[in-house]
Amino acid sequence: MNQRTCAACDCELDQQSIKVKLGDKTVEVCCEERATALGEAEAARNSVANEK
Ligand SMILES: [Zn+2]
Repeated sequence: MNQRTCAACDCELDQQSIKVKLGDKTVEVCCEERATALGEAEAARNSVANEK
């Protein structure tokens, strides 16, 4: 399994992939827009967890 896919939209990744750190794991996406969206989703999840 050496074919990497975008964590946001499942498209194939080439050298242009962008790494996004989500907590203690790193995922790769195809464009900066997706990276930002993923980062914001993770931040929202963290703030919800903190409200408990
Ligand atoms: Zn993508």
